[in-house]
This record gives sequence, structure tokens and C-alpha cells, in this order.
Amino acid sequence: MTEQIIFAAVTVIAFGILAWSFSKIFRIIKLLKKPYSIKNVGERLSRFLKVVIGQNKIMRYPIVGFMHALVFWGFILILFGSAEMLTDGFIGSPFDHDLSNDRIFSVLGIVYNIIIAGGDISAWIILILIIAFLIRRNFMKIKRFTGNEMRHRDHKDASFALLLILLLMVSLIGMNAAYIVNSGTDVFGLFPLSSLITDWIPQSSAHMIELIMWWSHILLIFFFANYLPYSKHFHVFMSAPNVYFSRTEPLTKMNEMESVTGEVKLMLNPDAEVPPIDENTEPERFGLKDVEDGTWKNYIDSLACTQCGRCTSVCPANLTGKLLSPRKVVLDYRRRMEEKIKGLLKEGKTYDDGKSLYPDYTTYEELWACTTCNACAQECPVSIDHPSMILEMRRYIFLEESAAPSLINAMSTNIENNGAPWKYSAADRFNWADKLCFNDKNKTEIKVPLMSEKLNEGKTPEYLLWVGSAGAYDEGGIEITRNFAKILEHAGVNYACLGTEETDSGDNAKRAGNEFLFQMQAMMNIEIMNGYKVKKIVTCDPHDYNTLKNEYSDLDGNYEVIHHTQLIQELIKDGKLKVDPKVFSGKKITFHDPCYLGRGNREYKAPRFTLNQIGSITEMKRNKSRSLCCGAGGTQMFKEAEKGDKEVYELRTEDALETGCNLIATACPMCMTMMKDGLKMKDKEKEIEVMDIAEIVVKSLGI
Ligand code: SF4
Ligand code: SF4
Repeated sequence: MTEQIIFAAVTVIAFGILAWSFSKIFRIIKLLKKPYSIKNVGERLSRFLKVVIGQNKIMRYPIVGFMHALVFWGFILILFGSAEMLTDGFIGSPFDHDLSNDRIFSVLGIVYNIIIAGGDISAWIILILIIAFLIRRNFMKIKRFTGNEMRHRDHKDASFALLLILLLMVSLIGMNAAYIVNSGTDVFGLFPLSSLITDWIPQSSAHMIELIMWWSHILLIFFFANYLPYSKHFHVFMSAPNVYFSRTEPLTKMNEMESVTGEVKLMLNPDAEVPPIDENTEPERFGLKDVEDGTWKNYIDSLACTQCGRCTSVCPANLTGKLLSPRKVVLDYRRRMEEKIKGLLKEGKTYDDGKSLYPDYTTYEELWACTTCNACAQECPVSIDHPSMILEMRRYIFLEESAAPSLINAMSTNIENNGAPWKYSAADRFNWADKLCFNDKNKTEIKVPLMSEKLNEGKTPEYLLWVGSAGAYDEGGIEITRNFAKILEHAGVNYACLGTEETDSGDNAKRAGNEFLFQMQAMMNIEIMNGYKVKKIVTCDPHDYNTLKNEYSDLDGNYEVIHHTQLIQELIKDGKLKVDPKVFSGKKITFHDPCYLGRGNREYKAPRFTLNQIGSITEMKRNKSRSLCCGAGGTQMFKEAEKGDKEVYELRTEDALETGCNLIATACPMCMTMMKDGLKMKDKEKEIEVMDIAEIVVKSLGI
């Protein structure tokens, strides 16, 4: 009875401390903003099954990933035994000499035997793997475990947590073996591996050993559970909810700021009907300056981080020696919250200690180095969304401090004045279509149709060809648009353009943090497109594709948007484009995946389908969802790069050169420019060509 009372007291204390730790977390969660709607339960559960139960993201690194997955699955089986131990403790059976008669869950019969056998095998597997992880962490130089953000105590914390798991397994195995010896023929459950070491345990001390191991195991569980909230291993608790609540939208979709929508509507139309502003509520700060400006998802992201460094190991900015490390951005949030949590809990959001997340933890230089490629978010095994946090801090810099880099300010001014990020006249937006003709004997001229003309003729084109600023003004972009228009004409697609009625999509303004300008551009475009009753849009620019497809819908712009590589694929499949593979025979082609088409919107097949009709592709080592950014996205195209060892486009060009290709295929005007710049830098522009898929198709059609 005394043991039972001691056990009950220890359990109450352990759970009490844990509840206190969690209550602080819940109070902070209540204090923070909602991130987005979390109603789509079915989609979330399916993701949960894949990422948490199936461990599919962690297995992107197959060997280490499988080792981690084994530990996770093993823990689930062992949890069953731990639950039984707690129940047994209250009943008092472990403290009696004859333990075997009182294994409470043994009523489950064969299922019990299977689970206990699984737990026993798992304990051994975890023991071996934890030893391997300890050796790996402490004696091998794994680059992704290092970095400026990794403090000495983080390494010690990681090793300590591993050591605790090791002791948990040793005590569990010892308890199992002693139980077998102590119970003789009355053993409940199967212990296929622990039964192999029973010879080491003398019958006379079996019960004592079992009791010591039982207490050690249960106390270690209590200690471990209470240590976790203050350790990097908190992901043991937090990764599952974090995955469940993660964003289900495409990675490159950036949330809208509802708080500016009303103002933008009024700026465009003073008579617009907008919800009245509540004069009594304090206006919220734009963007993220300090932890209390974040959402509760930002907070649980920071608690779920395993510090594995997978995000940083794929970040193009980090790989090229820049200060930015996405892991640091997440850890900065957690560390800043740890610093501020007492004050926030006491005084609420108004608590001010004179410091803030930006710039005291995460700096200007880090934030502006991000290309918004989303490689970090793609790779994170616990579905953390780093780019959203970075962009929210850019919003703060732009909207509250007006302190964006000068070239980004210039870009914004150009968009405001000319409807393009460069100093070109809005009146020249349709000049790309001048003197466009087929490559036949007669040089048959192509007259690119306009939506306004179609409307006058009483016709409704199937597709709006969205040209975009790069497609209308950038030299390489113009070539892509002209080639694609030829393809549309050749295949007899019913399409039209907006001509000078089109204005910049606002994509770059949004990535710079200038949500006012983005919404202004978007609303102007939406008004025009809705006026023409546009249903389907095709575009050659993956950035505008993403914005029109995923972000305009927040502002009542609902369209079916496809990328030109998707339409080309469809036209080839329908027999409307008959490409000649001889044109490119002898060419060794490699394909660079645009981040906003591939990782952002999961389109990897369409460009490859077309290229495979024309020749064969040699993939770069980093391809598809693992593709490396060209370095242009997230407004990088319009500003100087941050300090580093090399340019991102240089690194990506090296990836392409490694394949031994003589043709780099792209599917984005910005990627094309960057790859061309990379080849120039490497002095290879004469040996290797860069072509958009539209150009490759035009050449292979001979049009
Ligand atoms: S989005 Fe890309 S550049 Fe930005 S932090 Fe993530 S990996 Fe790095
Ligand atoms: S953010 Fe994700 S990928 Fe990066 S260190 Fe944390 S858990 Fe690993």
C-alpha cells in the first residue's frame, strides 16, 4: 500500500508539473492571432496520416529517415506498455511478488501478445538506433547539425535527451527480462528479444531487479515528459499537432491581409462598401515585429522544431554563404518567446521589454536574402512554414518602417506609376506582339487578339493569355510570350490578351511586404478580368501563375489558371502540336524546375512530358521538389544580393553544368535570365543554350 501511495503521489506531481507547463503554452496560444481556417478536417487528417503516422517527409532522407521512423513507430508501440504500467502502478501489482497474475491489459489476449512483442522488439531497435544517433551527433561531423544558431547547450540538450531515451530503453528491457524470470511459466505477453538475456538474471533477485527497473522506467518517463517542454526534443509532443494544423494550401500561396482590403477598396473607389472600422479597438500592427504579432501557428512551429537543419541545408541563400538560415528564423521565435513569456502572461500583448524579434534576433540582412523558394518548408519533417514568418517580417519593415531596400522601393514606385516593376511605359505593354509572324515562306503575320476586340465581335475566348510584366517588358520574357503566342495560333487555341488593359499582377509587391500595392494591382486586374467574364487563364510566368491561381481568389478573382507548359502538354496529347524530335537530336537537355511551378504548385510532369517528346532529359542532382532556386524569386531579381560566397544562380548553373548538358530548358522568364547570367559568369554561354519550353516547341514545330 505504501508503494501505491508513493506511486500515486509521484504521478500526480509529474502530471501536475506537465499540466502547468502546458497551461502556459495554451495561454500564449490564446493570446496570439489565428493563422487561417482549420476547418478542412478531412484534408488535415489525410496529411496527418501521411506525415505523422507514415513519416513520409522524414523519409526524404531514406536511411536516416527510416531510422527516425523506426524510433517513432517503436515509441507508439511502447506507449501501450507505458499506459499499462501506469494502471498497474495504481493497482499495485508491480509491488507484489507475483506480478504475472495482474497484467491488466492481458485480457486482450493475442492482440496483447502482439503489441507487447512489438514493444519488446522496438525497445531493442530504439536502443541500437539511439546509440547510433549519439555517435553520429557527437563523433561525426554532420554539417546540418552546425550553424551560428546552434549553441553549445543545444548540442548538449540533444545528447542529454538521447541519453534519457537510451536509459528508458535499458530500463524497459531490464524490466522485461526480469519479469520473464520472475514469472516463470505464467508470463503474459511475448518478449522475443528480452527473453534472450534472461540467463543474466538470477532467479533469486529477479523480483528486486524487476521492481528497480519498473521504478526507474516510470520515473524516467515522468522526468522525460517534464523535461521535454524545455528541450529541443519538445517535438516529441508538438510535431503531431503542428503537422495537423499546418497549411494545406500550395506552399507559395501567401496569405492576404484582410486588414488592408477595406482601405484599398476605398482608395480605388471612395463609394465602395466596406465593413466599418471599430474606433474603439487598437489597430493591429502590420506584419511581424515581435512574437506577440505572430499567429499561434508561428508559436507551435517554433516549439515543434527538431533543430534537424534540413531546412537550412537546402536553403539557396545559406548554401551560397549568406546569413539567412531558416532554422535560425524558427529558433529565434522560440528563444524570443522564452525571453518574453513571463511578461506576456502577466501583462498581455502590451508588455514591452524594449527588445523585439526583429531586429534583435532576426536581422534585416537575413530577411531580405530569402528567395521565397520554399525549399525549407518542403523539406521540414514537421511541416514548419518558415517563408510566411520571413514575409510577415518584411511586411512589418515595408508597411510600418518604410525601410525596404532602396531598389525594392524603386520597384514599388515603378509598379505604382507604370504598372510594371521597371521604368517602362504602361502604353508599351502590348508592344511584344508587334511584327509577330510565322517562320514560313510568306512570313505570315500573326495578329494577337485582344479581349476588347473579341468583346466587340460578341465572342468569348476560351483562354485569357496573361502576359505578365516580365513577358511584356523583359527581353527574354518577350521572346517566351511571342513563341507561346505562335504555339497558340498554330494549335488553333481560342485565346486573347488584355493588351494595355493588363497591369502588373502585384506578385513582387506582395513578396516585398507591400500588401497595399499588391491588393491594388490585384483588384484592378480582377475588375478588368471579371468585366470580360474571364474563366480560364494561361500564362508563361510561374510567379503570376501562382498569384492569379492562389492569391487572387482571396479578393474575388476566381479563375482556372494553367501554366503554358500544362497547355502545351495538353495540345501535344490532343495531337494539335506535332513536335519533330529530330530538331533537337544530339542535344543533351537538362531541365530547371521553377520553384513557383514545381515546389509551389506541384507541377513537375508537364514540362518533362514535352521535353521527352523532343529529346531526353538528364536530370540535375537537385530536381523536382528538391530543385534549387535560380535566385530570382522573392524580389531578389530587383535588388542587390546580400553578402555571401557566390550568387545563387551561379550555384544552380553549376548543377546544370555537372550534367554535361548543352541545352538548359526552363519554364519561367526569370529562371531563363538567371541561367543565362550563370552561363555568362562561367564563360559557357557559347557552348550551352538556355531556352524556355515554348521556344523549344516552336523550333521543333518549325513555325
Ligand atoms: S524560402 Fe528558400 S531562400 Fe527562403 S529561407 Fe526558405 S529555403 Fe531559404
Ligand atoms: S524548421 Fe524543420 S527542417 Fe528546420 S530544423 Fe526545424 S524541424 Fe528541421
